[in-house]
Amino acid sequence: MKIVFFGPPGSGKGTQAKLISEKLNILHISTGDILRNKSNYSDSLSIELQETMSSGNLVSDDMLNKIIAEKINSEECKKGYILDGFPRTLPQSEFLLKFLEQNKMSLDIIFDFKIDFRIVQERIMERSKLEKRSDDSIDVIKVRLDKYIQETYPVSQVFANSFVDKYKIIDASKQILEIQKELMKILKKVEN
Ligand code: AMP
Repeated sequence: MKIVFFGPPGSGKGTQAKLISEKLNILHISTGDILRNKSNYSDSLSIELQETMSSGNLVSDDMLNKIIAEKINSEECKKGYILDGFPRTLPQSEFLLKFLEQNKMSLDIIFDFKIDFRIVQERIMERSKLEKRSDDSIDVIKVRLDKYIQETYPVSQVFANSFVDKYKIIDASKQILEIQKELMKILKKVEN
């Protein structure tokens, strides 16, 4: 099963992606997690990543495209994967769609998490207390939401139009368990 998750920061898509990946035994590809791991050192690349990410800005398309191409082609993705946080820009989306076509791969389902931005801001502030992520302050949240609207929302619309039957809107204001059930219900139908 090959799944793409869209949704603004704080929409809960990471939590859902993790749960679904465990249930279906497929790889959860969170580009945010991959980049956070890469930024844990003190070399120049790590420092550059730390600066970009803690300001809420996006890392270069080039780097992300390379990371994803390598992942998707790897053995651990044979059974399927969940893309969580990619594609986030139009160039990334063009890269992904071309890459899938060239490698005769396809996507099974696209989930787009919709939520009021005021709820998102509250959620992220709560998360910042628990996880101490450097990009969870109110100013940085504004940049991240802005990036989402400017860069990622148009990508979700491309997917909505190109994958009409596979594109599903999810109400992300619901409780975790309720969303989980809804996702599983849709996935069961796709499997059959
Ligand atoms: P996330 O955990 O998905 O909110 O990602 C955290 C940060 O990682 C983002 O604010 C960006 O700086 C960076 N990032 C994650 N995915 C991407 C992507 N696909 N393109 C560019 N930057 C990304």
